Amino acid sequence: MKIVKNAVVGVNYALDVEGQQLDASGDTPLTYLHGHGMMIPGFERQLEGLSEGDSYDFKVSAAEGYGELNPEAISDLDKEIFMVDGSMSTEVFEGAQLQLTNQEGHPMVGVVQTITDDKVKIDFNHQLAGKELRFTGSIASLREATEEEIAHGHVHGPEGHQH
Ligand code: ZN
Repeated sequence: MKIVKNAVVGVNYALDVEGQQLDASGDTPLTYLHGHGMMIPGFERQLEGLSEGDSYDFKVSAAEGYGELNPEAISDLDKEIFMVDGSMSTEVFEGAQLQLTNQEGHPMVGVVQTITDDKVKIDFNHQLAGKELRFTGSIASLREATEEEIAHGHVHGPEGHQH
């Protein structure tokens, strides 16, 4: 069979960005249900049609990866927010990664860009936004999903949900 929607794919992968390996599946392939938006769009699209044992090497544009950099996701926040007992939190410095909560109560991860007299500039873009991604690897296993897996939208069994 080939990778199509509703295939359960076991994939070995390495992710390189700007020549640096950022992530890799290691000893255990990543297993996912193809065609359900579990992976980034460009990854699933380019794996489509491959068979078990095939290797691959492709690039995914930012638009089909983690998205383009959004200038509106860079915010100037009042420094007061980060003051603890009258002084700046030691966790806040240029380059620090912070987890904050937005007005709707959702957690957001941002990176401190600059700190001025009264503002802290934080970039809430995904760290891989605006970047071209390169994936290399091979297809370790491939099978058709069960009806139950398709209904749930995820893989069952030792490599997936066990419920
Ligand atoms: Zn399930």
